[in-house]
Parts: sequence; C-alpha cells; structure tokens
Amino acid sequence: MILAVTMNPSVDISYPIDGFKLDDVNRVGPVRKTAGGKGLNVARVISQMEEEVLATGALGGTIGDYIVKELNKSNIRNDFLKINQESRNCIAILHEGMQTEILESGPTLSKEEGTAFLEKFASLLAEVSLVTISGSLPKGLRTDFYQQMLEISHEKGIPVILDSSGESLKQALLHVEKPFAIKPNTAELSQLLGIEVEDKIGSLKAACDNDLFNGIEWIVVSMGGEGAFVKHGGDYYRTTIPKIDLINPVGSGDATVAGLAVALNKNQDVEAVLKTAMTTGMLNAMEAGTGFINFSKFDHYFDLIKVSKLDC
Ligand code: ADP
Repeated sequence: MILAVTMNPSVDISYPIDGFKLDDVNRVGPVRKTAGGKGLNVARVISQMEEEVLATGALGGTIGDYIVKELNKSNIRNDFLKINQESRNCIAILHEGMQTEILESGPTLSKEEGTAFLEKFASLLAEVSLVTISGSLPKGLRTDFYQQMLEISHEKGIPVILDSSGESLKQALLHVEKPFAIKPNTAELSQLLGIEVEDKIGSLKAACDNDLFNGIEWIVVSMGGEGAFVKHGGDYYRTTIPKIDLINPVGSGDATVAGLAVALNKNQDVEAVLKTAMTTGMLNAMEAGTGFINFSKFDHYFDLIKVSKLDC
C-alpha cells in the first residue's frame, strides 16, 4: 500500500462568477467544494488507478471534518492527526476565463502536534511499502520536518517520493537520508538551485548533476506539454508525449507523482515507470477536475508515449 502525506490539506472551493466586480456584491454560480492539497490529489489519482492508498497528514475543525467526509465518500482510506486549529479553505474565483485565487495559509501546529504526527507516521509505515510527501509544511513545524520523516522512513527501509518546494525541500535534500524520488518542474528546479534552468538537455543535465541531488535515485523534471527530463541513477532519459485536448492542467504534477508511485511500488522497469507517470499527468490535464483522471483512457495514452535514453 502507498501512504500519501498532506501536511496542510484544504477544502478547495471554486466560485464561477460572470462579470466579477471589485468593491461590490458578486453572486456565485454553482459552487464546487473538493478535498484539496497536493497529497490528496495524489491519493485520489492512486485510488482512481485502483491501487491501495492511505491518506494521512494533519487536519482540524469543521473544514477538517469535511475533508474526511469527502475522502470517505470517495472510498479513500484515511488516518489523519486531528489538530486544534481549523484546516484551511482555498478559493478560486473563475471569471472571464481567468482564475483569481484566495489562499488561506492554514493552521499553526503546536510542537506537541508535530511530535504526535511523527509518531503516527512511524506507526503507519508498518502497513505501507512506499510513501509520497507532497506540498508545503503548515506553520509551526520546523523546516526540517520532512527531513525527520525521511529519517523515520529510511530506518524502516521505505522509499519516499518527495514533491515539495522551497526551504522544506532544500532542507530535506541537504540531509544524509535522501528521498528515493523527486519531481520538480523547471521553475521549482530553478528556484531550488538559484539558477535559470532551461528546457534544454544541457541545462537540465547540469541541474540534475548538482551535488544537492547526490543519492536520489529518480529525478523527474516535468515540463508540462513537453513531457519530462529524467535522471535515474547515472542514466538520463527524455520522454515525449502526444498533443492532447487540454482542459485543466492544474494538479498534473500530482497525478504524475501518483503514477510514479504506483509504478515504482510495483517495481516496474524504467520505461514503464516513466510512461505511467507521464500518462497519469496527461490524463489529469484532459479533465476539468484537479487531481482527477479517467483511468479507462490509460492504456491508449500509455502506448503513445516515447521514452528515449540519452547519450550524455
Ligand atoms: P506541475 O503541475 O508540477 O507543474 P507539469 O505541468 O510539468 O507539472 O505536468 C506534469 C505532467 O503532466 C507532464 O510531465 C505531462 O505528462 C502532463 N502534462 C501537463 N501539462 C500538459 C499538457 N499541456 N499537455 C500534455 N501533458 C501535460
């Protein structure tokens, strides 16, 4: 089973508003509320791939209750730490073809809650064979929190796919126990290394060869419609994907992490791992929902993806 961690989940609310007006009353069309946060997108896609997944993290208040209710409705097993403060709402106003987002930063966890989560995490590892950790850390937790989770996973011999950014990712990478896989996009890679990484083989290779990544088995640099550049051990790969009818690419990175997790958890070969990860990313981009795929289309798109090993 795969454990999908979201430390700062949310209820994602979308408000379609025709003719959005500032400093005035706006009446909303049909409202959509979904359990959100990157790790919950990962859990949903794994579940849509008909694989076993357990969602965990920290949540609280009535918003936390709503998230659990939604996960239960979708038959996604979950075991979250209940915290004192309320989980967050994230609002997207859809107007005139644009999306204006209003994001709460979410609860602040106490030191005790941080410790309690690490204990829960350690006990859940008894049931799982792979972990995904996605998204930002909530306030109150030290930036080395993911590093502590990596240490616990390493002690139990369980591989971790870490999909985060900023300081919490950097801290985790500076540590001796590395994640098994990471999936930055080029913008995240540039931010992490403090250089402009371009969509060119030379630039991508140089970035992946940075000492910061030593010991990471899989670096999947996703590049939206351009597929991905990948470093696996000492080998480099380029994946090419077909043109698709793009509906909503938000959450495609999370869907890619889900595909990567499922394929790695089944010990598939390099080509199958990368094709699976690209397919789930594409399937997400073809749906309106975020972190949502139509798994019946999987085989068709899987066969259209090309993986080439690079001589570099
Ligand atoms: P992130 O959401 O983390 O920025 P990307 O946008 O790179 O991630 O998307 C992850 C994967 O999803 C890509 O590698 C690709 O397989 C698929 N994908 C995303 N956008 C598109 C698109 N416009 N066309 C086809 N596939 C896409």
